[in-house]
Amino acid sequence: MSTHSAATAPEDLNPFHIAAQQFDRAAAYMPHLKKGLIEFLKHPCRTVTVEFPVEMADGAVRMFVGHRVLHSQVRGPGKGGIRYHPNVTVDEVRALASWMTWKCAIIDVPFGGAKGGVAFNPKETTESDLRKITRRYISDLGELIGPHTDIPAPDMYTDARTMAWIYDTYAMMHPGRNNLPAVTGKPLDIGGSHGRNEATARGCLFAVQRALARGAVSGLDGVRGARVAVQGFGNAGAIAAALFHEAGAKVVAVSDSGGGARREEGLDLAAVTAHKAKTGSVTGTPDTRPLSNDELLSLECDILIPAALENQIRRDNVAAVRARFIVEAANGPTTPAADRILYERGIAVLPDILANSGGVCVSYFEWVQNIENEQWDEDEVNQKLRVKMERATDAMLAKQAEVNARLKKEGSTLPLVDLRTAALIVAVERVAGVALERGIWP
Ligand code: NAD
Repeated sequence: MSTHSAATAPEDLNPFHIAAQQFDRAAAYMPHLKKGLIEFLKHPCRTVTVEFPVEMADGAVRMFVGHRVLHSQVRGPGKGGIRYHPNVTVDEVRALASWMTWKCAIIDVPFGGAKGGVAFNPKETTESDLRKITRRYISDLGELIGPHTDIPAPDMYTDARTMAWIYDTYAMMHPGRNNLPAVTGKPLDIGGSHGRNEATARGCLFAVQRALARGAVSGLDGVRGARVAVQGFGNAGAIAAALFHEAGAKVVAVSDSGGGARREEGLDLAAVTAHKAKTGSVTGTPDTRPLSNDELLSLECDILIPAALENQIRRDNVAAVRARFIVEAANGPTTPAADRILYERGIAVLPDILANSGGVCVSYFEWVQNIENEQWDEDEVNQKLRVKMERATDAMLAKQAEVNARLKKEGSTLPLVDLRTAALIVAVERVAGVALERGIWP
């Protein structure tokens, strides 16, 4: 017998179940799509698990488990990052792969969704062991990845250096051809793109500026002067903090896995970065007060940017959130139950599939440059990124207005749609449109 009623039962935090709930919520507004087509779009088309040994620097042989999921190739080859983290599971990778499908569709790049991950702690791994794990994982994936099948990129605890090893491994296995487009997020001198390192954060800023200028948050019409808190101080979070600061915002708190740092008058981000480089964490930066990750999430601020892990804002802690606008630089930081409560409280959430799509957008630019053997200037990359982010933001806002006006006109019993659902409807309709044009095989 269950000891929990439905209201008090623990929230299901399985990321793949969460991705499915979000999808089902959006599908309810698309009765024109056939049920079978909806099922096809919801499920990943390929899930691969590899288990492999690595002889570590200390002489021990250790087994590793890695996954690569291709969710959809309806709009083009799979695209998605590779994550190294002890909590990687196949369901997390499946969720991240499906979010990639919707992300590529809303930002309108010709890719499907994919994702990969290896379950281990990279912080306790030497550089040479990291390289061996990467090479063996990529060689075990074999022909599953490639420039026109499935193209990896960085995600948590992988970076340009990891992408260079992936490129080298792939190139060794496929001599005599241009292998640069097989992986993105590479170092600049190995076919990387200017602006890729900053792209996730810069795209996030562009989308926020557009959404605020278009009235997405009443009483907050721009980033200038806004009080911002950022959870996670890696590629997405640290660069978002710097770019929001540059755009005139006051960054009042940041955190990482070791804790947080807070300064009411605005943090000196160069000092925070220097302290993290020296000690491994932002916490304890001189002239700041420490705060926990829970405290950061409940800070009174204009813009809260979760830029670390999934499931940070949940049913059990959402009541404490006092931000006016939540901007999901991370993937999956808000659960469906928290989404609903935030919407009822009038707190807008700029959803992950749009807010962090700048990364895959510039990955697409890198792929195009690699195919053409070109390298574009950073200004050109940023300008193209801005256009893409603004178009995607406009499409989401227009869809929200259109659907909600229709629901009101029809006196529908369905709840009004939030920004996540609106963005998902745009994305699913785009993928469905292509699936129908191509025809379901056979
Ligand atoms: P990263 O490895 O560069 O940084 C991760 C940061 O999160 C680190 O500062 C780490 O200390 C912090 N962190 C880890 N656990 C934490 C915890 N429990 N509480 C608070 N902070 C914690 O990773 P990243 O590339 O910046 O990725 C962060 C998020 O952004 C992920 O959800 C990722 O999927 C998403 N994302 C990244 C990119 C990209 O291009 N890098 C693109 C789209 C989305």
